[in-house]
Amino acid sequence: MKILSLLCFSLTLPLAAQDLDTRAWFKGNTHTHSLWSDGNDFPEMIFDWYRSRGYDFVGMSDHNILQEGEKWMDLESIRKRQKAVGRDAVSKAEARFGKDWLRRETREGKEGIVLKTLAECRAALEKPGEFYLLPAEEMSNSGGKKPVHINVLNLDRVIEAVKDDEATPRDVLRRSLIAIEEYRQQSGRPILAHLNHPNFQWALTAEDLANVAEGAYFEVYNGHPGINHLGDETRPGDEEIWDIANTIRIAELGYAPLMGFATDDSHTYHGEDVSPGRGWVMVGAEKLEGDALVTAMLAGRFYASTGVTLDAIRHDPAKRSLTLEITPVEGVVFSTAFIGTRKGYDAAAEKTGIGEVFATIEGTTATFTYPEDALYVRATVTSTRKHPNPSYEGQKEQAWIQPVGWQRAPAR
Ligand SMILES: [Zn+2]
Ligand SMILES: [Zn+2]
Repeated sequence: MKILSLLCFSLTLPLAAQDLDTRAWFKGNTHTHSLWSDGNDFPEMIFDWYRSRGYDFVGMSDHNILQEGEKWMDLESIRKRQKAVGRDAVSKAEARFGKDWLRRETREGKEGIVLKTLAECRAALEKPGEFYLLPAEEMSNSGGKKPVHINVLNLDRVIEAVKDDEATPRDVLRRSLIAIEEYRQQSGRPILAHLNHPNFQWALTAEDLANVAEGAYFEVYNGHPGINHLGDETRPGDEEIWDIANTIRIAELGYAPLMGFATDDSHTYHGEDVSPGRGWVMVGAEKLEGDALVTAMLAGRFYASTGVTLDAIRHDPAKRSLTLEITPVEGVVFSTAFIGTRKGYDAAAEKTGIGEVFATIEGTTATFTYPEDALYVRATVTSTRKHPNPSYEGQKEQAWIQPVGWQRAPAR
């Protein structure tokens, strides 16, 4: 209940204009898997992959585990994870970090390796102000035999997953978020929880996301090719889910809208298909460390990207004016769609007026004055450039800013 009242309160915040210079924001991926759960490479190799490609931070979000304590894995199991042919994970790690780097140990007659902990990875790879390892867990809950996966960022102990196949996914989503909120209060740490891939196994609908007040963040893009990002003939894709859920939240329930993440959800690192580098967030934090990054994201100071970079986001609620400055790329044209829902939309008619494209503007500066009756407005920038490592056919590079203008809407 406490959480609910906070959300309703946020609908009546004063309407300050925002002028965000996003050029120095930190780039990070909050959703990654290693051998600690079902990924197929050593965590230090994965962190190193991101570091060498200019990322500022990475959350290694293994399923229901933090990279601490001791985890031993036999060599054969490590090799079996690797589907692609080529050099194996062990020899690649030894080539990168040296022959004595991996801690080899034989247990019960099997050769194996003790995996590096997050603390050991920090000591080897972290550099203050340049590269940061964000503690993360993919809390892999299950409800009604469906996956209800939530990434928890900046935590210092595992939050136990809720597994109740008698309950609905929506109920498990709510209970998981309450467990995370209880942990947040006990720990006193800034904690952010984002709901992952709602269409994975068609686990959660837009209505589920709308009705769970405690959930305020979700993945509008996840780079795993198996998560039904685009939906199908009868079910909405992740971006449509965003508009449906936000319309219901703002117009009918008086909840703050969902904010969108883009992530990799990478599992494979040897040339297979669930690979890194597809989606990330850009965060306007004061410092490159966990508390500051999460505090900035909780305040909405971030955007999601699969390749498009922004120089500035300006919003003046009094003038209903929203401007995006896009970082120019030679030979590339950007098109910015301003999307929202008007008051008095027809919910009964199929999709009528939900997620209406108010305007599409080409160029590196896109300014739009949104309609007076808009419940909220958001913007998606799409590049003419193809994504270099697409998760679906025909994917173009994009960026998504968080919804604005919703504080003007009266809560019912
Ligand atoms: Zn997942
Ligand atoms: Zn995952």
